Amino acid sequence: MEIIRTVAWMKQVGRAARQQDRLLGLVPTMGALHEGHLSLVRAARAQCSPVVVSIFVNPKQFGPSEDLQKYPRTFAADCVALEALGVDYLFAPPVEEMYPSGFRTGVIVEGLSERLEGRSRPGHFRGVATVVLKLFEIVQPHTAFFGRKDAQQLRIISQMAQDLNLDTQIATCPIVREPDGLALSSRNAYLSGDSRRAATALYRSLEALRSTVEAGERDASRLVESARKILVSEPGVAVDYVEIVDAETLEPVVNLRRTCYALVAAVVGATRLIDNALIEIDPGAQQGDSVRVTL
Ligand code: AMP
Repeated sequence: MEIIRTVAWMKQVGRAARQQDRLLGLVPTMGALHEGHLSLVRAARAQCSPVVVSIFVNPKQFGPSEDLQKYPRTFAADCVALEALGVDYLFAPPVEEMYPSGFRTGVIVEGLSERLEGRSRPGHFRGVATVVLKLFEIVQPHTAFFGRKDAQQLRIISQMAQDLNLDTQIATCPIVREPDGLALSSRNAYLSGDSRRAATALYRSLEALRSTVEAGERDASRLVESARKILVSEPGVAVDYVEIVDAETLEPVVNLRRTCYALVAAVVGATRLIDNALIEIDPGAQQGDSVRVTL
């Protein structure tokens, strides 16, 4: 695996692969890699060669009071894991390489970025869209792989790729979870003891919502209530939001009629966690709809 630190060299490698008609895959990450990230790398390996993984803790997507300084960094271990999976290139630029002094541009995907995570983390998705567009332009991947763990981010990046006619397909991978349901996240490293146990409340709240949907409930506010009940009954968990939104517009829904997401965000101890369930609804004829809830 070759480690690339400069934009110029990464551009050269990416363009050479395109010229040779090779299918270039990109997995953007902020490092501190876990099985969730590695599942994206495996998906990329199955479809693409060469595979580029980027590790860049993007300062522009952190708010002023967020965890940029203490965000976990495990570069040596990340390299070992990526090498073992047969990754061809690791793009790990220093901050000055991505944002030289005088950098001024930002990408805003209007209407999708201000809600949910965007309301609690103003400017977050501007930072995300900006860095992802830069990565796409530098690497020029045919396909870029993202996890459904960050459902709103995925929706925003897909919209950006469509709106800006980018030559990159967006591939979605399922959420990888711990045996007790907690979605893997680099920020889980902040959890210990009681907060690690309490953190399963997010998954349990989505499980409750799933059984309520499966029992036939289609009223969004009652479904939200079934999930919220679990979260508020867990000491040490402060709910930020529980919402059911249309999977395309990310607007809140009143009744479940189309594919939507149930999204939760909560602060556990001092750590902000997110999780979601994909609710796929197939409106039926006589026998009612058929529904599939994927956590
Ligand atoms: P991050 O390093 O947190 O920016 O995440 C990089 C990519 O990994 C994003 O596309 C995330 O959605 C994805 N990812 C993070 N956690 C998981 C998980 N538990 N399962 C699947 N994908 C994940």
